[in-house]
Amino acid sequence: MMKQYIEEADQVLMHTYSRFQIVLDKGEGVYLFDTDGKKYLDFAAGIAVFALGYGNHEYNDALKSQIDQILHTSNLYYNVPAIEAAKKFCKASQMDRVFFTNSGTESIEGAVKLARKYYYKKHGRADSEIISMNHSFHGRSMGALSVTGTKKYREAFEPLIGGVVFAEYNNLESVKALMKENTCAILLEPVQGEGGLYPADKDFLEGVRKLCNDHGILLILDEIQCGMGRTGELFAYQHYGVKPDILTSAKALGCGVPVGAFAATEEVSSAFEPGDHGTTYGGNPFATAAVNKVFELFDQNKVVQHVNEVAPYLTYKLDELASQYDFILDRRGMGLMQGLEFSFPVKDIVTMAMDKGLIVISAGANVLRFVPPLVITKAHVDEMVTILEQCLKAIH
Ligand SMILES: *Cc1c(COP(=O)(O)O)cnc(C)c1O
Repeated sequence: MMKQYIEEADQVLMHTYSRFQIVLDKGEGVYLFDTDGKKYLDFAAGIAVFALGYGNHEYNDALKSQIDQILHTSNLYYNVPAIEAAKKFCKASQMDRVFFTNSGTESIEGAVKLARKYYYKKHGRADSEIISMNHSFHGRSMGALSVTGTKKYREAFEPLIGGVVFAEYNNLESVKALMKENTCAILLEPVQGEGGLYPADKDFLEGVRKLCNDHGILLILDEIQCGMGRTGELFAYQHYGVKPDILTSAKALGCGVPVGAFAATEEVSSAFEPGDHGTTYGGNPFATAAVNKVFELFDQNKVVQHVNEVAPYLTYKLDELASQYDFILDRRGMGLMQGLEFSFPVKDIVTMAMDKGLIVISAGANVLRFVPPLVITKAHVDEMVTILEQCLKAIH
């Protein structure tokens, strides 16, 4: 059955992924099932998306009732779920205004456009430059790719949009060296995800914020992966006490419904005027009903508090593995966004784990990434470690 699905898929889907050879069909809590009925413990959450786990009835019911009410209106009119979601998002992110998108990539596009427009309005010139980071990941569209500092994603698609330069992450001097009169913004992830699970150093983030203040330029924080409770604060920047001027979100924001957001302070938001930016679907009642329910359930189930209860245990267990196996070089991350760096590519471990009923993913070639649903318990951590150890022993 599964084999046949995969054969069919390989005929009709574009070959942009080397997919693992399973077809996922159903989810329950923190477990997934393939079309052959095999069960997997999920430590990937659809790449840091399904924070609440699968089959949450309250979440599902909210979506079902929104479907019966109204799915889409376009942004030519107001709709109630979007207004509610905007209030919740602004409160949670401590930003003043928000624009809802359909993906992380689009949130980055919007953030870059807003930064450019802000500069244009302030200086009357369209020559602004953005400083982004090496090994960053911000998405795959031409604009988002242009600020992504990873050569293998970019190379074949150049020329990309201009006015972007790249600094070394966690190296303030390298950022300073790129500062110019026409720098309009510095863009970074508080915890680099795809780049290998690197949290920003406190000094670095504070230094970047000061640089922005001193030169009147904008700090854009990409919290698409590290936001929405994953690190043990609703947004990772809250660990640092360093507030961005523009913040991007997506992934767990809709917990499975495609939705993203970029938000900004009043002053920065005011650079946008009617006609500057738009989207047909973005912030539609269906997507924003999901956002509303996610925030409600985060509150009701104290999800962030739960992350802070379970994350130290995951960290402890991963540190233990790192000390036991020579070929594990490092454990890095924050909260339930963790990575183990190996001295070799982790693809075989990922495949072996899957055979044994555990879904984990990589971040780059050598880093095993742990971004489970935020509702996992210590027992799930133990279950994960037991399977992972079987894999580690097999390759030892
Ligand atoms: C996933 C991701 C994106 C892109 O989001 P999509 O929803 O895939 O478009 C951008 N930035 C970061 C940090 C991400 O993790």
